[in-house]
Amino acid sequence: MLNHEALFSRACQVIPGGVNSPVRAFNGVGGTPLYVESGKGPYIHTADGRKLVDFCCSWGAMILGHAHDEVVAAIQSRAALGTTFGINTPDEVTFAERLCEWLPSLERVRLVNSGTEAVMTALRIVRGVTGRKRIIKFDGCYHGHSDSMLVSAGSGLLTGGTVSSAGVPRYVVHDTFVVPYNDIDAVKTLIQTMGSEVAAIIVEPIAGNMGLVMPDPDFLVRLRHTADQSGALLIFDEVITGFRFALSSYAATIGVKADLMTLGKVIGGGLPLAALGGAAVFMDELSPTGKVYQAGTLSGNPLAVAAGLKTLDVLERDNPYPRMAELGQRLADTVNTAAVERGLPFHCAQYKGVFTFFCTPTPVRDLATAKQSDTAAYARLFHSVLKSGFYLPPSQFEMGFISAAHGEAEIDGLAQAVIAAWES
Ligand SMILES: *Cc1c(COP(=O)(O)O)cnc(C)c1O
Repeated sequence: MLNHEALFSRACQVIPGGVNSPVRAFNGVGGTPLYVESGKGPYIHTADGRKLVDFCCSWGAMILGHAHDEVVAAIQSRAALGTTFGINTPDEVTFAERLCEWLPSLERVRLVNSGTEAVMTALRIVRGVTGRKRIIKFDGCYHGHSDSMLVSAGSGLLTGGTVSSAGVPRYVVHDTFVVPYNDIDAVKTLIQTMGSEVAAIIVEPIAGNMGLVMPDPDFLVRLRHTADQSGALLIFDEVITGFRFALSSYAATIGVKADLMTLGKVIGGGLPLAALGGAAVFMDELSPTGKVYQAGTLSGNPLAVAAGLKTLDVLERDNPYPRMAELGQRLADTVNTAAVERGLPFHCAQYKGVFTFFCTPTPVRDLATAKQSDTAAYARLFHSVLKSGFYLPPSQFEMGFISAAHGEAEIDGLAQAVIAAWES
């Protein structure tokens, strides 16, 4: 059996900070990060021999749970046939057809390897198509780590954002304007002053990267309207929300149409796969038909496409969506009732199968209100429920995910572990 402290100290000698993606370092909750050997269904097995119920689910990618038999079989049989050729494959055509069939706003899709890449390319297209350079993004929305998205709100609405990472030159984010989530008036102000220079507005239709934050009921419709008034394009980043709540995107289910959409996480079935898509007039601007360059050695990777296709097939056949929504509701109801009874500064934000435990009684509607949450209290909660056998996202500012493999026992177990954490 392997000890996590020993693994992490070995890792720190050869991997920056010991991790291949920063949130895994547990900086948000403290303590030594976990090492996982394997997973099955809703469970993960750690290197030090524990079995945990997983509510991170690879940030939502594992919608069917870990090592789903049919997905594993699809990957195995594809692997035996060759994993990459740098030449077109029949399955990538089928996959793209299925995405276009399920998402009516997609006439074309291009497959890439990560959400970051999908967003980076979408931004290049909107700038290429409109000939404008400014982008409006929302504070607390995450769109991957391409340079122009590593930006936080500047000193004033009308000044471009401030770089949020070393190594990103100021001029790169100069044209990214950051406004509070759900603040349609701020968007309108920007559009009124610089509308003719705005290439696009990019948004997570449900924000998932500051904890779960729902859009106001008319927020996305009004964004659509505001974009249209100025000729700016609208990009919905559905890397988390695409195929998460239905065989569709969130925006499509509420009837709002983006010009470009990005997908990731769920559609890769646990392998590196993401996509961007939209109307042909925009997407055909990509090379080789158009002048906006984009390429990828492993893009449309056969192994990833096999996992993604099978995952979407199983989702279509089994329709686990209502069940995941019920379980989410059950979790939120139980812990919210218990918190109110105890008068605790806590609430569980929840939509269908996703949730965030916020350690504040105040409803969260943007980054400023998310930051009112007591992150030290979240860290205590995280470690307490971890001791009881439940793995939550290791940061206040992330969402928990319920997969199709979770059942009432796992949900009730987590709810009881949360309540026990308050009482310890
Ligand atoms: C995860 C995420 C990304 C980035 O995707 P990667 O595959 O990690 O590069 C982009 N946008 C949103 C909304 C995400 O949640």
